[in-house]
Amino acid sequence: MELPSNLSQTENAVSTLVGKVALVTGAARGIGAETARRMADAGASVVMGDILRDQLEETAREIRSTGATVTAVTLDVTREADWSAAAAEAMKRYGQLDILVNNAGIFIGKDFEDVSIEEWHRLVAVNMTGVFLGSKMCAPALRASAKLSPHGSSIINLASVAGLVGSVADQLYSMTKGGVTLFTKSTALSFARKGDRIRVNSVHPAVIDTEMGAQALARRMHANASNDATGFTRLLHPIGRLGTPDDVARTIVFLASDDAKFMTGSALVVDGGFTAQ
Ligand code: NAD
Repeated sequence: MELPSNLSQTENAVSTLVGKVALVTGAARGIGAETARRMADAGASVVMGDILRDQLEETAREIRSTGATVTAVTLDVTREADWSAAAAEAMKRYGQLDILVNNAGIFIGKDFEDVSIEEWHRLVAVNMTGVFLGSKMCAPALRASAKLSPHGSSIINLASVAGLVGSVADQLYSMTKGGVTLFTKSTALSFARKGDRIRVNSVHPAVIDTEMGAQALARRMHANASNDATGFTRLLHPIGRLGTPDDVARTIVFLASDDAKFMTGSALVVDGGFTAQ
């Protein structure tokens, strides 16, 4: 059946990022790679950062082959010097930075009583210090670029449903994502009160079909003594399937775009109904 013409037009409408420059962390694979791809499709120039240099180069090459403008930089989000270099690279190449996506993250997948102090420090370094440093080190460039754009700049932080409700799968991961949820709101308020015109929002996926998602699903099934992946996936996600990187990337593009110009401090779930239950 053909859709009425007004409906098909709505379906085709996409948020635009033409003329904007984005920095996406953890962009070698998974949600970060898809976000870089979608942002480039929407017209942005994208600086892609990751520690997986070879995979990053390969993903960047593939996106570039579509005619998009992307740059790959080695960026360990736990290292201040890497952040300085990445922000400087964006300014040197493109002269502005409008969007920061703090996407890089890791998952331990163990009960907290089995986690060593070294594993905990690593988790905090990537999931929390990475978001702090990214926001701090990119703020000057985002602030400067905001002055030149009609609706300012945008930071999107990848939290999780585990940053909104408790998680038996990984209590420590949940603690870091809960921190990201409130850091998002706090920085949104402080930028807004200072008149900086930098919006900050968080995105909260449920289980997404990536390497981390496979690890998270296996861990949740184990913690709930389930061996029925299909049934368990449906139980977690009333919509009836796992999420895809595309589901999340489209939400990030929306938040980065001027379509979300009145949104700051929000926590947007992309979870197939996970937290509605
Ligand atoms: P993934 O493991 O597939 O990819 C993560 C990427 O981050 C990898 O490319 C990895 O190399 C990179 N990375 C790890 N440590 C880094 C560091 N120190 N510096 C720079 N890059 C680093 O994970 P994903 O599923 O794409 O997850 C992306 C984000 O979404 C994470 O913050 C994650 O916590 C969040 N999230 C994922 C899910 C899910 O089910 N997949 C659910 C909720 C939230």
